[in-house]
Amino acid sequence: MISPFLLAALCLLLSIIYKPFEINPDALLQWNASPPRILLLTAHPDDECFFFAPTILALQRSSLSPEIFSLCLSTGNADGMGERRKGELGRSLDILGVDEDKRWIIEHPQLQDNMTQQWEAEVIAEVVRPFVTEHHITSVLTFDMKGISSHPNHFSLPVGASHLVKSLSSSANTSVPRLFSLTTVSVLPKYTGMSSALFARLTLASQSFSVSEPTVDSLPVFISGIPDYLTTVRAILAHDSQMVWFRYLYMTFSRYMWVNEWVEFKT
Ligand SMILES: [Zn+2]
Repeated sequence: MISPFLLAALCLLLSIIYKPFEINPDALLQWNASPPRILLLTAHPDDECFFFAPTILALQRSSLSPEIFSLCLSTGNADGMGERRKGELGRSLDILGVDEDKRWIIEHPQLQDNMTQQWEAEVIAEVVRPFVTEHHITSVLTFDMKGISSHPNHFSLPVGASHLVKSLSSSANTSVPRLFSLTTVSVLPKYTGMSSALFARLTLASQSFSVSEPTVDSLPVFISGIPDYLTTVRAILAHDSQMVWFRYLYMTFSRYMWVNEWVEFKT
């Protein structure tokens, strides 16, 4: 039988983490763009929900009403399931709220899903360029140089996107997007699951006592609440070709199911 004390503690925990929590979410957006146009740049179908869901879901609540686009640079064909995975990505993005006309998946001979291959920055820049320019993208969101899981396809992306931003900066008549990367945390905190949502909130709340208002330079942090977490689980389950046993462990223990921290990538 559960003691009243434990039951009360559980209710308190659930009430604390039920609602989403964000610090400076609009720092990812260009304030002078109306609406801001955000491009999520990923390497494989399932990256969008395994790693970026807290941000995708939170940005849709922003008062700046950003338009959110998704560009995935491979079909994830390492096991010959690329065609199937394209459909899974579509269903996942439906659940995460990215419109059908704002999402694309690339099939390129030099951008193949491969655990040992780093993609060339020049190739990434050339492939991404038309999507950025034609849709007037104002911010690009992608992995950092550790790629969360150290997958070389992942950490190729900030290098390629940075190459593109530099190239756009040097050409006149083109607006240049800002580039942000999702912070890779070390192994131990990476698998703290629901408790990561609690500790991240407590840390940010204690900081907000000492700093009255987040400045425009504060790093954006997105912490999912329980409804967002459940939406993320549904999006992951849409990738049914990937649902081996350790994916269930991932959903239970990964910090990225709950917390996303961003830094601007200096090009
Ligand atoms: Zn991936």
